[in-house]
Amino acid sequence: MNNQIESAYPAYYRQKAVKRLLFFWRTAWDFMKLSEIKGIGPKTEALMNKLGIFDTADLIRYYPCSYEEYASPKKAAELTAGTRNSFRGTITGNVSSRRAGRYHITTTVVSDSTGSVRLTWFNAPYIAGILKKGSQFIFRGNVRIKNGVLCMDHPEIHTPEKYDALMNTLIPVYGLTKGLSRNTIAKSVQYALQSDPQAANEYLPETLIRLNGLRDETAAIRAIHFPKSADDFKEARRRLAFDEFFKFILAMRMLKEADGDRKNDFPMHAVWDTEELIESLPYKLTRSQLSVWHEAEKDLSSEHPMSRLVQGDVGSGKTIIAFLCMLMTCANGYQSVLLAPTEVLAKQHFEKIEKLRAENKIDVLNPVLLTGSMKASEKNAVRDLIRSGSANCIIGTHALLMQSVEYQNLALVITDEQHRFGVRQRNALRERGTVPHMMVMSATPIPRTLGMIYYGDLDISVIDELPAKRLPIKSAVVDESWMDKACEFIEKQAEEGRQVYVICPMIESSEDFDTYNVTDEAERLTKRFPNLTVGTLHGRMKPDEKNAVMEDFLAGNVDILVSTTVVEVGVDVPNASVMLILGAERFGLAQLHQLRGRVGRGEYQSYCIFMSGMNSKDTLERLNVLKESSDGFVIAEKDFLLRGPGDLLGVRQSGDAMFSIADVTRDGEILKLAGETAAALAKDDPALILPEHELLGKEMRRYFEANERKIVL
Ligand code: ADP
Ligand code: MG
Repeated sequence: MNNQIESAYPAYYRQKAVKRLLFFWRTAWDFMKLSEIKGIGPKTEALMNKLGIFDTADLIRYYPCSYEEYASPKKAAELTAGTRNSFRGTITGNVSSRRAGRYHITTTVVSDSTGSVRLTWFNAPYIAGILKKGSQFIFRGNVRIKNGVLCMDHPEIHTPEKYDALMNTLIPVYGLTKGLSRNTIAKSVQYALQSDPQAANEYLPETLIRLNGLRDETAAIRAIHFPKSADDFKEARRRLAFDEFFKFILAMRMLKEADGDRKNDFPMHAVWDTEELIESLPYKLTRSQLSVWHEAEKDLSSEHPMSRLVQGDVGSGKTIIAFLCMLMTCANGYQSVLLAPTEVLAKQHFEKIEKLRAENKIDVLNPVLLTGSMKASEKNAVRDLIRSGSANCIIGTHALLMQSVEYQNLALVITDEQHRFGVRQRNALRERGTVPHMMVMSATPIPRTLGMIYYGDLDISVIDELPAKRLPIKSAVVDESWMDKACEFIEKQAEEGRQVYVICPMIESSEDFDTYNVTDEAERLTKRFPNLTVGTLHGRMKPDEKNAVMEDFLAGNVDILVSTTVVEVGVDVPNASVMLILGAERFGLAQLHQLRGRVGRGEYQSYCIFMSGMNSKDTLERLNVLKESSDGFVIAEKDFLLRGPGDLLGVRQSGDAMFSIADVTRDGEILKLAGETAAALAKDDPALILPEHELLGKEMRRYFEANERKIVL
């Protein structure tokens, strides 16, 4: 294989480097297999594998994504719609259990001295056997008001004694895959913690634990699953966030060590073409864009290869910087590559650069697009152009990396919105001969000092201003009672020719999270707006389906796009002027900010409506941060301050991120500590040969192996 770009790609790079490290590196832990855990059969095992869980070590590190708090039950009169609450009541109504079409419906009415609540269960006929008229239970669920009557759908049922035992504890909620219940995960975790002492072993030497004021690993892992209190949770979280940063940074240092010193294999000189392009743009580059461009220009002509992170908020104009670097590279007679996280984005980048080339007659540029969904014959044709060197400005998705593309003289690799790849772009292998220049573009708001720790040896450039003359997005934070008004607004905008995003937290309905989902919302909106075209987009669709939908939206054939957060990644649809985010309380503020960045990219006044399913004061206060600020840094900071243990973790998709607990945008203090600790360790005992580092070595081996599995597709 002689694919230079593949060598620049983290999965490949790591796989190779890790193999090298592991080859001579101590024995592994011997963890229990999932099948040895009581209650896990082949079916459950397969489901867990889907979540990236393969042994007890993975299992106990499958942290909850939030917790449920069991507070004192409320009186009927105290219940309000849109909250999740417990209610102590006596069954006063008849328990009716009947079939209705495909469903089996059980209903009854429960009351206390202040009022009644109507309860409904679907497809749970056994419930009728539990509920006896006159008996008392505690019911817990989401409260709604239907036709003026308080209702709970599918509430949990607890006897008063059992509820007392649960009160004021935090019950873990896990990100699930269909067919796997929270209970199964919780029980398996408990079993693993009891029966496999290796799985959660303390691996840090005692001095490091003491110096950093950390909690013991075993206790921390136990507490993150089953916290006794909010403080218990916080202490555990601190330790585990430290772990994640520490291992990551140490791993990076080890890999870098294996990488050696580098010189600039593709020296360049400044060219006029870039100046001309800047002159001919329909806008003036901001001061910030110019200074970042000049830094990059200097890198490309320096003695060492560029390895630079360009950081800038959504909409700050990172793409043009990438184009300028590519142009300079091509004008110097080399090839350059721009990698996008999605096909749609790749295509959009390609069309933009092609337009710039045509309009400005830039002869040195010969752009091509290469994506996974192209026909085999098309791909082959493009590959030929790349091999011969006649294509020099190559744009594509990382699917492009996985295939054996041969380059003539690849000098620059740019990765756009890399945080979506889950791991950081890393430099090429020395065994490859030549090392291309590397640029990474990211919208993750992380302060420069922390970025320096996190991104190790990458230089950092920050675009810290937005282009002037852009209309600020108008943001509103509302509760569900505004749904009708929001829909009317959407209709009005659509009639004026604008397009709309509707974002839901889930793909389809689930018993575990009572919130909006793409499938049901799309159906509802289609019914409501028979004259508008509604499309859907989510991560479980096939890549071609996703592309087709996104292209339809881009072309204006879809008026309303109902989607999960997959739209978060950098596509530019200037005609989209409204974003309605349903169940907004389910997302982190930083993510909501990224989502909002999808609108307000054109000439139209744009709007973002954050609709919360909870109208508690805390939730609204948190969401209001978005109304008050449009600065990604400020938002990330406030987000951290305002979150409680219940939602500190947020609903997250499993397995696609490097960190499951730690968050670079919020855990600055811990990141700093972990960075310093890793640096000191890498200096004192880089190969981890001292006896007190033996367990750490084993743990690092597990870490490399676990993450290799995560990134290699
Ligand atoms: P991001 O940093 O999120 O990737 P883009 O590069 O996609 O942002 O830029 C967003 C939009 O702003 C694009 O339509 C781009 O053409 C435009 N743009 C970039 N720089 C400027 C500028 N200096 N003045 C006005 N518009 C700009
Ligand atoms: Mg972008």
